[in-house]
Amino acid sequence: MVTEAAPAASSSTPKRILVTGGAGFIGSHLTQRLLDMGHDVLVADNFYSSTRSNLYELMGQPRFELLRHDVTFPLYVEVDEIYHLACPASPIFYQRDPVQTTKTCVHGSINMLGLAKRTGAKILLASTSEVYGDPEVHPQREDYWGNVNPIGIRSCYDEGKRAAETLFFDYYRQHQLPIKVARIFNTYGPRMLADDGRVVSNFVVQALRGEPLTVFGDGSQTRSFCYVDDLVSGLISLMGTGPEVTGPVNLGNPGEFTMLELAEKVLALVDTGSELKHLPLPADDPTRRRPDIGLAQELLDWTPQIPLDEGLRKTVDYFREVVG
Ligand code: UDP
Repeated sequence: MVTEAAPAASSSTPKRILVTGGAGFIGSHLTQRLLDMGHDVLVADNFYSSTRSNLYELMGQPRFELLRHDVTFPLYVEVDEIYHLACPASPIFYQRDPVQTTKTCVHGSINMLGLAKRTGAKILLASTSEVYGDPEVHPQREDYWGNVNPIGIRSCYDEGKRAAETLFFDYYRQHQLPIKVARIFNTYGPRMLADDGRVVSNFVVQALRGEPLTVFGDGSQTRSFCYVDDLVSGLISLMGTGPEVTGPVNLGNPGEFTMLELAEKVLALVDTGSELKHLPLPADDPTRRRPDIGLAQELLDWTPQIPLDEGLRKTVDYFREVVG
């Protein structure tokens, strides 16, 4: 664990930045922010769970470049920083081809770490709160090792990301690579896919269509939801730290809600008469999750600013346009 805070990336020093998974939900917001800061941004994405339309607005910009590329294959480019986000992150997507999910986490990380080693680039891993599994410690701090089922249906993602963290720290120890590991908790906002299967997008889209909201289990399980703009600020601050700061650092909003509370909030915003429909709880679904963000506050001076009600309003506005 590391201790030194450092300044955030500055628009006065333009860099060549690679964002893997940059056409995805978080990646496209990150790409947009980095371009706004004056950087050159190369997005590499295979569009497995993302869409080029997330980047349409950026396509005319001279500092922006888009490459169709699967990170399980090596990539030879010259860059100063790498944000390694590429991986399907929603259970329905990462469970559709679980072998490929693990390959993406492991081979993808090896390839991007190799690129960082050759170019001397700083490299940030988008890891996940899933590394804590179904946590026995609450809220989750970075020094908790987690409670993950190694052979369940979520394991391809959970263990894949844990292996990716291992690779990052071995490249750090063995090759002195400047690494950053962010553990991202549930994030939501505009540009989530309508059919992503995530609880926020599901509830909002279902409510807008007047369909029942699908609550898995009794709805007492909890999650903490971070608005995407806050998360992007945290990622950029982490990248801007000095080499002593490796993480892992939790990035998420510590507000904790049950799925029933979330359903109530969505229905308060979208009153189309939807009811609740309970469906079976998926296997290994974590019962509760909330980040301890003390380390991010200390190292990055970062605290999420957008409360759930406000973020949900923006998300509803977005999906109103998308689903009509
Ligand atoms: N969930 C739900 N209804 C849905 C989709 C998800 O009740 O239509 C629940 C799911 O069982 C989990 C929580 O919402 O407990 C968050 O699920 P999501 O897939 O968004 O994220 P993750 O489980 O990866 O945190």
